[in-house]
Amino acid sequence: MTRRGLYVHIPFCGTLCHYCDFVKVIYQKAWIKPYLKELKHDLSFFNVESDLQTIYIGGGTPSALSFYELRNLLQLLKLYTTNVKEYTVEANVESLTLPKLKLMKSYGVNRLSVGVQTTNDEMLAKLNRQHTYQMIKTKINLIKKAGFTNFSVDLIYGLPAQSLNDLQSDLTNILKLNPPHISTYSLTIEKGTAASIKKWVSASDEKMRAMYDLILSTLRAEGYVRYEVSNFAKAGFESIHNKLYWENHEYYAIGLGASGYIDGKRYVIEGGISRYLKGESIINIDEITRQEYIEEYLMLNLRLAKGFTFRDFKKRIGFEFMEKYEPQVKALIERGLLSVNHDGVCATDEGIMLLDQVVLTLIM
Ligand code: SF4
Repeated sequence: MTRRGLYVHIPFCGTLCHYCDFVKVIYQKAWIKPYLKELKHDLSFFNVESDLQTIYIGGGTPSALSFYELRNLLQLLKLYTTNVKEYTVEANVESLTLPKLKLMKSYGVNRLSVGVQTTNDEMLAKLNRQHTYQMIKTKINLIKKAGFTNFSVDLIYGLPAQSLNDLQSDLTNILKLNPPHISTYSLTIEKGTAASIKKWVSASDEKMRAMYDLILSTLRAEGYVRYEVSNFAKAGFESIHNKLYWENHEYYAIGLGASGYIDGKRYVIEGGISRYLKGESIINIDEITRQEYIEEYLMLNLRLAKGFTFRDFKKRIGFEFMEKYEPQVKALIERGLLSVNHDGVCATDEGIMLLDQVVLTLIM
């Protein structure tokens, strides 16, 4: 099977955000050189092909690397960039500089994903983020000045004590930056994070839904298309790399904490930073059963507004979708959760909010 994407995890961060549940460690200069060496080892271990369409460097905070470290990382991946259509690097506001932006551009990076989260300075401090709204405005201008036309901003909602008015002003401020792509996340308080120790409480389901609806109506009114449950883009700016995940295609992933999907197996590179740096990471492999494959196909593809075509389903699953699922599909159409035309199927606005139920009804 062709694998068209590569995810590279850079787990280093300048400071740790209180809500963060990602695989990350505090940046230490001494770790970067050996880490890049191990990434090189991963590239050959997983036999990463060079005709990739997308590369996504995420974290952690890739922009926390110094100019020279970042250059070494980009140089390491250069061999794989020949046919790349979309090359994304995640960046934090405080560590993004014009020289780093120019460097990335010179290596073919053509998309940035910026961790904005909120434009409320008080809330940013509470989350232990290191930037302010003023810095966001400055750095987004810098991104544009460096010639990047494609960039995404992350927005978190359901923050402690956040009201709908607070969220509305975040949306207004973010829209002034005119980002071609916006990713939204609801705040979940995960065990073991500083937020959970501080006893922060997640917003209620009703409040989260009201916030989501506000985001949806505000962004749609401004010409953004919700092409995936939590992702909004202006025409032509949907993320090609992330669509590989949602269309349930295979992709490579390297670096500590990275999860990939190769030869019908999902894997995660685990074991902590010390083991990784010694070349002793643990690769946890999960072989996907046929039933799991079908469920994943449905669950992931239905996250996309376009859903999937009957043709693609037949090609990848091996039987006609409607032959097997017609009664369930009819029931879901009656409940207003699914929509079907002669080409394929997609979840309705309401169905996208109740995807677990939709998929469960299909497969039961
Ligand atoms: S910058 Fe990102 S990865 Fe690092 S601690 Fe904050 S949320 Fe986590």
